[in-house]
Amino acid sequence: MAWTLTGVGIGDGLAMGKAWVLASARLDLPRRRLEPHQIEPELKRFQEAVEIVSAELTAIKLAMGQEPSAEVTALLELQSIILRDPLLVAATEQRIQNDHCNAEWGLLQQLEAVSAQFDDIDDPYLRERKADVQQIVDRILRAMQGEAGLEEAVREQTNQDEEGGWILVAKDISPADMLILRKHRFLGFVTETGSATSHTAILARSLGLPAVVGVSGLFNQIAQNDIIVLKSKEGSVHGALNADDQLVYKHQQLRYADDLKALEDLKQLEGCSIDGVSVLLMANIDLPDDVQIALDRGCDGIGLFRSEFLFMNRSTVPTEEEQFQAYSAVVRSMAGRPVTIRTLDAGADKEVSALHSGHDRPANPALASRAIRYSLQSPDLFLSQLRAMLRASAFGPVKILIPMVSGPSEMISAREMVQQAMTSLRAKGLAFNAKINVGAMIEVPSAAIAIDGLIAHIDFASIGTNDLIQYTLAIDRTDRSVAHLYNPLHPAVLRLIEQTIRSCHRANLPVSLCGEMAGDAELTRLLLGLGLREFSMHATEILKVKRVVRNSSVTSLARGVGRLLKLPDPALVRAGLSALNAKAEAVG
Ligand code: PEP
Ligand code: MG
Repeated sequence: MAWTLTGVGIGDGLAMGKAWVLASARLDLPRRRLEPHQIEPELKRFQEAVEIVSAELTAIKLAMGQEPSAEVTALLELQSIILRDPLLVAATEQRIQNDHCNAEWGLLQQLEAVSAQFDDIDDPYLRERKADVQQIVDRILRAMQGEAGLEEAVREQTNQDEEGGWILVAKDISPADMLILRKHRFLGFVTETGSATSHTAILARSLGLPAVVGVSGLFNQIAQNDIIVLKSKEGSVHGALNADDQLVYKHQQLRYADDLKALEDLKQLEGCSIDGVSVLLMANIDLPDDVQIALDRGCDGIGLFRSEFLFMNRSTVPTEEEQFQAYSAVVRSMAGRPVTIRTLDAGADKEVSALHSGHDRPANPALASRAIRYSLQSPDLFLSQLRAMLRASAFGPVKILIPMVSGPSEMISAREMVQQAMTSLRAKGLAFNAKINVGAMIEVPSAAIAIDGLIAHIDFASIGTNDLIQYTLAIDRTDRSVAHLYNPLHPAVLRLIEQTIRSCHRANLPVSLCGEMAGDAELTRLLLGLGLREFSMHATEILKVKRVVRNSSVTSLARGVGRLLKLPDPALVRAGLSALNAKAEAVG
């Protein structure tokens, strides 16, 4: 009987292939009591497994060559340190000796003891490291059981030259695993853990693979070599398929592939509507590596570089020099196309442990000291970031974007800091663009409502709908229990977007939109009708949005969209928008 499981879909794709199950090695491990003469060999077996894992980590590091980003290198270092930690290794050896238990059991008992200590730790950076310890324990267990790890899956996969391919099914995928996936193509992957904003999801997006994360019950349903289908837009995984089902999915897969190919043809074409209106389609990036896919999708520039990702997964903040290297690498790769770098947006859902360790967790993280609030409270850190961005501006058109601005005073202070950063660079004789544009994210309702007062202090505006929706509708964007209420089509949200665009146009100020709404092709005509002419999104969505732009007559959209704005309810707006899209598709 066919079954379906659901989770959070990443990207838009359909993959059908054989499951490569990378089960948690921690499941169902029995305790064995050892006879005294068995203890020495058991210790040896454990030590050999530790050596195997150590060699694996070294091999991964070497295989990465020049490629790895600083945060991935730091994670691998950290895992090597955990592997040598006496709390894990020596303590497990003691358990084997004292309790006469098998190594797997001893290691699991030790993991439990260590995990309990982690739960009591206040420091969020250290608390998060529990996952790293678990990943290392999994690796050791796998080595002891002689089980195939991801590396072996990859070898197997590349040895086999059969039709189809593999879909990776795993409990979780570590950054080290991601590096392996980056080099060898699986068709997609499914994980038991993870949410839309988890690291697994973020890295999956940068790989451009269809994926579904956070799927409970995976391992009860899927066995090695089962044929499964994953549909990432729907966030669904399907199995136990009969021949007819497989045929249907095969057709759907071919349609997806044709669609992708058709989209490829749009790469060289301009984002220009039927009636000749030019629309800029920019990419959002999290890490410098993401530039490749952005260029591959034919972006017009980087509309949002979320600099906070450079600060994640590490115990110290990146230096000015490190940041300069990262920013200038992106600017150079973009070869003259604009790059908008956002200053640190740490806090709330984007926890940067290196900054917040030792601090009390605020009661309402989304409303606490995050983004520009935090930067203004940490002037040295802010100045070093601004200097790095300014230095990168010597290599191409860079703009500085300030997150979570709520009113003019924050912009005035931020601009003063930019001036200070310039003064110190001048003193050192370092080059930068003294006319650099500094803009604000419009993502707090107060900034959108009172945009007129802000306009004098900004060179451009970028509407951050992810947070604008969260703050307007009072919906925590990370809380699953209220996710169904998070609605971009709420009239209040649409009116704030419309008002921001209108005010900026009136003042001749460039305005873009860089929240998830920009990458949703269903909403493209709505945004065009609201007057938006610059979109910034995940690179994987650019061509789909470009197709809608090229298939739209922008001037005629304004009236239809104006009518949608008057509707009282998101469901009515959705229905009206579907009708508007259908009509436009029929004409185009
Ligand atoms: C937003 O809030 O819309 C945005 C683009 O920023 P982030 O998702 O990084 O908060
Ligand atoms: Mg935001």
